Amino acid sequence: MQVVNEAVALAEDVTSSHFKYSSSQWRRSRYDIRTIGQLQGQEITDRAFAQIIRYMGQPPSSHLSSSRFDFYKVCLQDHTILQALSRDPRLDFFPLMVYIVTHELVHIVRFSRFIQSFEAYPEDRVQEEARVHSLTGAILDTARVSGIEAIVRAYRESPDSLGIPLDQMAKGA
Ligand SMILES: [Zn+2]
Repeated sequence: MQVVNEAVALAEDVTSSHFKYSSSQWRRSRYDIRTIGQLQGQEITDRAFAQIIRYMGQPPSSHLSSSRFDFYKVCLQDHTILQALSRDPRLDFFPLMVYIVTHELVHIVRFSRFIQSFEAYPEDRVQEEARVHSLTGAILDTARVSGIEAIVRAYRESPDSLGIPLDQMAKGA
């Protein structure tokens, strides 16, 4: 968990500076990052390293529909990540976590700036996934994380080069 927390902190740092987000803007994009012990039911999948579930949030103090907001839960699939680490000698845990979390944050920035619609995501998936990998690679090129180059390179070759899609999206109930 310590490694995951460090990876999340680094990913937030490089992503927010890339998009020139202030910390208050960053706090307004509402998301949470969770590992498998904190997931349930449809939040768990065997078909990706991570899954973004969009939930509708509402402040407890308000019942106005205008106060509703999108809330993104990044569900890290520890079991598929560990399987990839054991079958692929190019991969190390920390750089892989940094890559995955940065990639998910890029998706969330693009959803929350309405550059990409969550609703349209299934149809646009292939193109959007390629764009997000390319942005993730550009962000991480300067991050000086040992072992990250191999992962950036693998994803530049193909979004499937680690044997499983990086992520998938779903709507929360
Ligand atoms: Zn993705």
